[in-house]
Amino acid sequence: MRVVFDTDDSAIWALMRVPMHHKLNEVWEWILQKLIEWDCEEVVWESYHRDKLPGESGVHDTDPCRSLDWYPTKWPLTKIKRFEEETNNAWDYGKTNPRTGKRYKVLWWHDVGRGAHYHTQVRDETLLM
Ligand SMILES: [Zn+2]
Repeated sequence: MRVVFDTDDSAIWALMRVPMHHKLNEVWEWILQKLIEWDCEEVVWESYHRDKLPGESGVHDTDPCRSLDWYPTKWPLTKIKRFEEETNNAWDYGKTNPRTGKRYKVLWWHDVGRGAHYHTQVRDETLLM
């Protein structure tokens, strides 16, 4: 299993400047183990930290960093969705959306910004269930 850094988005430079939130570390240790179990050959770390953009939630802007954008390079969408489900069944983000009454997720797949990717997000209360 190989982790590649998207140099266009400078994920590696950001990683050297801003520490990972300790819960993001825990989630990523878990994800890396799962990626090996799921026979993933390669993932790209796309965005780790960036300056807050107008209209953004700002979760990519925190110090320590609470979020990471990434994607597996060779997975079909069905596998991507299964991995998202397994991750969110294992981890509780630690907060409920007041509008919908649903728990926020630790991982989700979306097609925004520079293309389709997973968004990983944690907070102090994030826990392995
Ligand atoms: Zn993101």
